[in-house]
Amino acid sequence: MEINITKPFLPPFDKYLDKIKEIWNTNTLSNMGPLHEEFEDAVKQYTQDSQCILVCNGHLALELLIKSMNLTGEVITTPFTFVSTTNAIVRNGLRPVFCDIRREDFTLDPNEIEEKITDKTSAILPVHVYGNPCQTEQIQKIAQKHHLKVIYDAAHAFGVTEKGKYIASFGDASILSFHATKPMHSVEGGAVVCNDTQIAEKIRRLRNFGIDGEDVTEIGINAKMNEFQAAMGLCSLAYFDACMQRRKKLVECYEQHLSDLPGIEMQKLRADVKYNYAYLPIRVTETAGISRDALLLGLEEKGIHTRKYFYPLTCDMTCYKELGKGLELPAARQAAKEVLTLPLYDELTEDEVKGICLEIKSVVYGTQRENVLKGKYE
Ligand SMILES: *Cc1c(COP(=O)(O)O)cnc(C)c1O
Repeated sequence: MEINITKPFLPPFDKYLDKIKEIWNTNTLSNMGPLHEEFEDAVKQYTQDSQCILVCNGHLALELLIKSMNLTGEVITTPFTFVSTTNAIVRNGLRPVFCDIRREDFTLDPNEIEEKITDKTSAILPVHVYGNPCQTEQIQKIAQKHHLKVIYDAAHAFGVTEKGKYIASFGDASILSFHATKPMHSVEGGAVVCNDTQIAEKIRRLRNFGIDGEDVTEIGINAKMNEFQAAMGLCSLAYFDACMQRRKKLVECYEQHLSDLPGIEMQKLRADVKYNYAYLPIRVTETAGISRDALLLGLEEKGIHTRKYFYPLTCDMTCYKELGKGLELPAARQAAKEVLTLPLYDELTEDEVKGICLEIKSVVYGTQRENVLKGKYE
């Protein structure tokens, strides 16, 4: 068996060809061409935001969004994320203040936020990790009380709704990623979504060098999405709902076949959330009698590629070590030690999922048996 952790979605070749044929008619390759505008509208409609600003990747969406808000000093954020989140804060000259997460869903713990607030704090930057909605109501209350901005990294959360509301509509603004490994993609790509016309106008300028008519009013960058990316985005979006349904079935299949394995925990899904099933994180707890790292290696030997997503915490990475020094963050550290993400992509079959679950059991039981033989349980 040879199974990858993920496999990017590719639309039927003909569909993509049909779409890019339009580029040969318009002779426009970049700079907000017709496909770009079509994709921007489609994302806006899908996420029910009044503003959508496409950019060439999710990271630059976050960097530009932070820049557009003229933040100062400190930003409270999570260390249990992809390094892009922390990089975007630091590259804007701001200091990330790392806050612990909730054990249940890996998102920023609102009960820990307030004690991190100082007179330098200007914003909170939570992440909807694995597409799990943050505690948006509580976070909003804290932000209002202390006059802070809230920026959501919704890179994982395209298509997710909470109580019928699209995730991208929470906080002051959110960013989406359309990277090839994300649930909906444009090869590389990203967007800022919000309901604030001023932020939107500013980001539209910043993604295009800061150009404002003949003048340049602030120092921007080139972060434009091109027509080929937009064409892939439109094709990918057309299949997104169907992909989500297929991945839901696969997650249910994993649940069914792993539920009887003590110490291996899947996330409890909330009834008021529509998930996008972008990732499948499991926790390998002490009860399992095997470490997460040993399970990863055991599966690797069988050709099943899983991932420690996220390990290490960003505050423990070499470039941020100074910032992470002395921080306890017990829930985040435990998650970084226990979480393994399993293969999940829409071409995966239920038989393959059953096979993966059997191999997980065989590695777990094998290790337990070895431990008994070694007298570890005496
Ligand atoms: C993927 C990702 C990003 C950055 O997106 P790109 O499109 O790859 O630049 C930001 N934050 C998180 C949490 C991500 O997973």
